[in-house]
Amino acid sequence: MPRASRYDLLFEPVKIGPKVAPNRFYQVPHASGMTNANPHVRAAFRGMKAEGGWGVVSTGACSVHPSSDDSPFPFASLWDEADIRSHRLTTDAVHAHGALAAVELWHGGAAAVNRTSRYAPLSPSGVPWMATHVGFMSSARPKIMDASDIRELIRWHADAAVRAEEAGFDILYVYAGMGYLPYQFLLSDYNHRTDAYGGSAENRVRLVAELIDAVREATHGRCAVALRISLQELRARPAEGAETEAHEIIGLLKDAPDLFDVKMDYSSTDCAPSRYVQEGSHEPVVDFVKAITDKPVVGVGRFTSPDTMVSMVRRGVLDLIGGARPSIADPFLPKKISEGREDEIRECIGCNICISSWHDGVWVRCTQNPSAGEEWRRGWHPETVAEDSAESAVVIGSGPAGLEAALTLARRGMQVTIAEAGSEFGGRLLWESKLPGLREWFRVVDYRLGRLLQMPNVSLFAESRLTAEDVAEFGADHVVVATGAKWTRNLCGANEIPTAPIEGLRIYTPDDIAAGTEIEGPVAVFDYDNYYMGSAIAEHLAGQGTDVTYITTAGAAQSWGVMTNEQPHVHVAFQRLGIAYRTLEIVEDFDGETLGLSQIFTAERREIPVRSLVIVGQRLGDTALYEALLDAGTPSLHLTGDAHAPGAIAHATYQAHRTSRAVGAAPADLLERRDAPFAPPGLYTEAAE
Ligand code: ADP
Ligand code: SF4
Repeated sequence: MPRASRYDLLFEPVKIGPKVAPNRFYQVPHASGMTNANPHVRAAFRGMKAEGGWGVVSTGACSVHPSSDDSPFPFASLWDEADIRSHRLTTDAVHAHGALAAVELWHGGAAAVNRTSRYAPLSPSGVPWMATHVGFMSSARPKIMDASDIRELIRWHADAAVRAEEAGFDILYVYAGMGYLPYQFLLSDYNHRTDAYGGSAENRVRLVAELIDAVREATHGRCAVALRISLQELRARPAEGAETEAHEIIGLLKDAPDLFDVKMDYSSTDCAPSRYVQEGSHEPVVDFVKAITDKPVVGVGRFTSPDTMVSMVRRGVLDLIGGARPSIADPFLPKKISEGREDEIRECIGCNICISSWHDGVWVRCTQNPSAGEEWRRGWHPETVAEDSAESAVVIGSGPAGLEAALTLARRGMQVTIAEAGSEFGGRLLWESKLPGLREWFRVVDYRLGRLLQMPNVSLFAESRLTAEDVAEFGADHVVVATGAKWTRNLCGANEIPTAPIEGLRIYTPDDIAAGTEIEGPVAVFDYDNYYMGSAIAEHLAGQGTDVTYITTAGAAQSWGVMTNEQPHVHVAFQRLGIAYRTLEIVEDFDGETLGLSQIFTAERREIPVRSLVIVGQRLGDTALYEALLDAGTPSLHLTGDAHAPGAIAHATYQAHRTSRAVGAAPADLLERRDAPFAPPGLYTEAAE
């Protein structure tokens, strides 16, 4: 289909200093969990986005010196010759598709606590950065930078810039955002210096300006220089002679870089979960920048709608459409818009499983795009699967796993039948996406169902609960069982090991609420699952006017939500909805009137009066059909998704993708590759005190 002319604007080239981006789609720097230790994995991941039409493709944070060491969180580096070779694979992969390659040169200052390199963290004034936050926690306090430290920092950036150009990068970043060192100099309440780098706004921007100059001079103006800057805190601070400090600082720097990359300050606001924050949320903070500078501006907002992107450009908010999560969920987003196939975009759902993988220290993974991170290791492509079979397959269950399995099998050329017991397709998401804030998660179903309904080799049957006999009678070559999982009524011990189910009046699981059971208040929601279900149910019930107390074995609500940036938002929602919450407790017993609790460390008994109890604890795969099929000796039988191992939706789509590639495939087609770093040339020679 030809592209709609209203989107032509998105495909105009944009000049960025000495370089020209071929279009307005700009994959801004984002964490991938891939370091210089996995150079081929990383190159294939970034190169895929260039193949999909992104005009600029950036690295994640790339350390300029060992005194900026984020371990155990994964980060890239440009410290030596081996690092240049490692990045060269990425720039070649990006250039192969006509895109520009950008590198986010990075020094974390006090926000990089150097767990491996053991340098004292550097900072403007010796103040730790968010000292109780898990990423920045350390018992070491940062060193106050003296004049020679500042000179060294500038030289490290210049040296890294030379290496970056040698590695093939076109755009070199100076990174003054997200709490990292140049940003730390910008904040008046963090930078207490009395020299030329502290005090007035002119003094506080001095380091950023000198870094930009140093990077430009080191590459003799051949590379473009971008400034990435966080504006949330600065925009909230009044200034003398300017609307806010953000206006003042952008005004002072307006001619310095070739490009402004503008963003929020904290991971939970910058990469906010869709559950609480909508598409385009950065706009009120960054909308003023273009009015001050003539340089091009890029920014993000989890944009997946081409109409929104056009509006951002037309309204003068942005020149380039930044994408991090949308580019992970669909590396081919630009190409689909370009070819008039925007209805095929695999839209990011804003679940933040991708950012959780960085917090976990592993390669990026994505709920919507199971091939993310597997481009090189398993050779998975986000859009195509080799057409290698004309056999038949029946997929039982149409949740995220069943739909993903069916789509992949159908793309392989098989005749696919989906049998779903319920009246609609979508499995757990039919109900879960109706919980507060989870509407966008239904995109997982929309994308897959949309594709499946167009495929001539796919038949879908609702209200078709299959038995083992039905499956045998059907006689498909391959059987994929994706029958999901059920929540149990099991309580747990202080070590969170599930014990026995609790019986009694008004005791429920999420499955009961999904089935429409009325819950009498006051209700206690006991959460030892610690992902979204417990807090989402608490919000759901409170939203209906029910008096809710949320109880968790952990120290904070939705403890795993720290990985997905949801936790701060959960606490805000609890306060807004009047949800009481109790931490570090387990439920011991419930007689329909009084809930018995025990503090997990002291075992002290507490009691609260409630009428109902909802337990969000253990899920078990629904394997009854699979076991019956196994007993019947069903050939080519495969269990997948939550039925195989209950987890997040990302686990279901990934597992199903993997299963369906393996169905009937030769073992030789399923081999994995193992990446390895380039050997360094020798010792890092610049070690300092
Ligand atoms: P997953 O996340 O693994 O996809 P879900 O719980 O979302 O799991 O989906 C499982 C789906 O399987 C549900 O829609 C359920 O109705 C369906 N299902 C379960 N047992 C059968 C069966 N015997 N025949 C057909 N569909 C089934
Ligand atoms: Fe979007 Fe979720 Fe994929 Fe991240 S993991 S890119 S938030 S769909």
